Formats: sequence, C-alpha cells, structure tokens
Amino acid sequence: MKNKVKPYPVPANCDFCGSAVIFTSNSVIYGKEFGNGKCYKCTGCDCSAGVHDRTEIPLSRLADKEMRDLKKKCHALFDPVWQESAYINRSQAYGKLANVLNIPVGDCHFGWFDKYMLLRCMEIMSDKKWYIGVNWK
Ligand SMILES: [Zn+2]
Repeated sequence: MKNKVKPYPVPANCDFCGSAVIFTSNSVIYGKEFGNGKCYKCTGCDCSAGVHDRTEIPLSRLADKEMRDLKKKCHALFDPVWQESAYINRSQAYGKLANVLNIPVGDCHFGWFDKYMLLRCMEIMSDKKWYIGVNWK
C-alpha cells in the first residue's frame, strides 16, 4: 500500500523571523545546485525547506539548523522500529506515533513538526517500548 502524503502548504512567511519566503535555486544553501535543485528559502534568516522532485511542493516546514538536527535524531530513534521489525511497517509505525501524540496519522511526519513537537517525539521515543501496547490505527 502506498503511503499517501498530503502536500505541505507553501510557506509565505518564515515561522521563525516572519520574513518573506522565496522559491529559489538551492545553490543559495549549498553553494551549488544539489538534488532537484530547488528549495524554499527565508529572505531574513537561514531557514529552508526542500521540495518534491519537479514540483513546488515543500517536503517539510521551514527548518533551521536546530530543527534539522532534531529531525535527524527523531529518525535515528524511529526508523529502526520499522526497519528492524518483521511485524510493523513504516506506515504502521507512523500510525502508532500519531496515536501516542493524539494527532491524525496524515499529519504525522517529522518534517511537518515544529520544534516543540520534535522534542515531544524525542521524549516519547526515548522509551524503547513506546510503540508497544498502543492501539493499531
Ligand atoms: Zn526566517
């Protein structure tokens, strides 16, 4: 079953500093074009978000360095749960996490979370058994 992902809304203004956000070449971040070459970039600070290939649909909300680091840490805790299990797949793992967070599973992506939510996820997942005993979605 394909995991259907809702497009994240295009950002008009930065969540962090309120400045205008532009759709541009990601060479402004990496020094040269990288991957699909496009991104959203805040004009006031160094927040950015990548886009899905050949679209202007953001991959995630705008993130600063701290959020990018938090997302990496969340994935390091979350991904082994489904990658190393014969019983739970990726979308089921997101379903469990959504259940614990009490949010719709369609809104449950680390890339969509703000700093507060990422910290909450870290706290939940620091208990190695977080996904046991939660009702299936
Ligand atoms: Zn900004």
